[in-house]
Amino acid sequence: MTQTTLAMTQTIYQYYIANSLREDPILTQLRKETAKLSSSKMQIAPEEGQLLAFIIQILGATKTLDIGVYTGYSSLVAAMAMPQGKVISCDINNEWTKIAKKYWQLANQEHKIDLRIAPALETLDNLIKAGQENSFDFIFIDADKKNYDEYYERGLQLLRQGGVMAVDNVLWGGQVADLADNDENTTAIRNLNKKVLQDSRVTMTMIPIADGLTLVTKNGLPLSPA
Ligand code: SAH
Ligand code: CA
Repeated sequence: MTQTTLAMTQTIYQYYIANSLREDPILTQLRKETAKLSSSKMQIAPEEGQLLAFIIQILGATKTLDIGVYTGYSSLVAAMAMPQGKVISCDINNEWTKIAKKYWQLANQEHKIDLRIAPALETLDNLIKAGQENSFDFIFIDADKKNYDEYYERGLQLLRQGGVMAVDNVLWGGQVADLADNDENTTAIRNLNKKVLQDSRVTMTMIPIADGLTLVTKNGLPLSPA
């Protein structure tokens, strides 16, 4: 037994997957196609997708935001977890999101997904300008890491009271713990982790699943800076 988080070995990981993963066959197919790309490491892990779907379901979400689409896994997970609802999906890459659209159609979920091809900051600013603050049930941040803080701040504005915002890759392959690592992405994630920990505007938890996932929910109104 352990009072710290169990160190993951391949054997335990395989047991974990074999005894917990219930992946839709279309998601499995999407993962197989994505695995052929040299960029495939960017895709979320299936057990993480299942956790996101669980959160979306218990929230009874009908309005979610997916920042960083890639080949569409997290958007599809969100759409499938909402019997009725809409995902606004942000990305700048046409080639990868073409694959995404193919699988959203295969899974009969494309009518729930509104893909916005533009820098995500622009899309978020437009949503704020359109008066959509405090309206999103669930937000997933998983695009370029150098803008994480900007996504976090805009996400907090867009998130409804009681909603959940999830930030991916917060452990960044362990590099955040290596203080000699001053890479731009590592630093951006490390700075955001520090900020979220101290942010009295939110209740937070960090889950060491996949590459690390932080969950936040807003504390009482009004929303004031940390
Ligand atoms: N959530 C995805 C993985 C996202 S990978 C999944 O479930 O598989 C990160 C994505 O962010 C890439 O597709 C990349 O094109 C996108 N991205 C990078 N910079 C961006 C920006 N400024 N605005 C929007 N998307 C961006
Ligand atoms: Ca990610």
